[in-house]
Amino acid sequence: MRFPLKMTANLARYVASQRLRGSEKFPMVLMLEPLHACNLTCTGCGRIREYKSTISEMLTVEQCVAASDECGAPVVSICGGEPMIYPEIGRLTREILAHGRHIILCTNGMFIRKRLHEFKPTSSFFFNVHLDGLERTHDLCVEKDGVFREAIEGIKAAKAAGFFVSSNTTVYKETDVNEIAELYAYLDTLGVDGYMLSPAYSYSAVQTQDVFMSRADIREKFREAVALLDKHNLMVSPIYLDFLRGERELDCTAWGTPTFNPRGWKGPCYVITDNHYNSYREMIDKTPWEKYGPGNDPRCADCMMHVGFETTPVLGVKRQLGDAWTMLKWQFSGRMGGNGNKDAGNRPTNGHTGSGTLMPPPPQNAELVTSDGRLRVL
Ligand code: SF4
Repeated sequence: MRFPLKMTANLARYVASQRLRGSEKFPMVLMLEPLHACNLTCTGCGRIREYKSTISEMLTVEQCVAASDECGAPVVSICGGEPMIYPEIGRLTREILAHGRHIILCTNGMFIRKRLHEFKPTSSFFFNVHLDGLERTHDLCVEKDGVFREAIEGIKAAKAAGFFVSSNTTVYKETDVNEIAELYAYLDTLGVDGYMLSPAYSYSAVQTQDVFMSRADIREKFREAVALLDKHNLMVSPIYLDFLRGERELDCTAWGTPTFNPRGWKGPCYVITDNHYNSYREMIDKTPWEKYGPGNDPRCADCMMHVGFETTPVLGVKRQLGDAWTMLKWQFSGRMGGNGNKDAGNRPTNGHTGSGTLMPPPPQNAELVTSDGRLRVL
């Protein structure tokens, strides 16, 4: 399997019900940014600069849950900022899961060990750890030594406790895909369940502009990348990969991946900010969608980001005969849990205790656990 079966089944049911209802625009993934504060200053991230004036503001758990319920997307990607420094991150994930959503928690991994005891494993929850290369490269990208090592320790602890873990890599102009292949081979040995990757895209709040690629650069880079990385459990849809390799055209459907943060609903997309709206409905109704996308807005010219294009075939835009079969085959040909030591990933129901209680710290990781049985604070 590429993703947990429950997640795939719920998403398929959701899409079918939206189509039956004749919905023209519906969300697949909510990009939820409960805060923009972060412990790092990564080169390719514009959030801490774009939201400098509101960097200390945070959404409440109740605001986050209400936003998730309002838009109804089946998947909530909790990002930021660094969500693992959000004080109530454990309660936030529990409440969103209780409302029937699936969560991908995007983190730099530095606080997984410290806060793991606030979560419990379930097939509806992934830690998605950002890694842009092996140790030296990654620490350079995030402008801080030691981040890679701590993220790896976090991954090990999460896998040992029975969590699903994926990694997320941003591909820049200078990215060496051979190094990413090495990274994936290493993460496979840790039992990492899957790999997301997306081309970096330049927007005004990002300071370092010369690391970004044109469409032609992206196509070349991803032709090379897919050839090398396809043997791993890529969690990037095959249709989106075809688009990234220049073998297919897709339209931007940014409305399928809305962003909510302390300023409101961000329009038109995760990348460009032209407005913030008070409600999801207002954002959908008032955004002039026809003015965005490659060929319509110069800022979109080279964009091939997943937030604009990955959900496009799922949402039914420019669907081709055989797409459904391609996606089905892809889901069942996946191989979660890496190639190496699968001990942690092979626990019954992937570590879900079924008890409804929080997971205890993993006993086999004695160095992470204090004498009273709690995870050691970094
Ligand atoms: S193409 Fe779509 S996702 Fe990309 S910047 Fe433009 S509106 Fe945003």
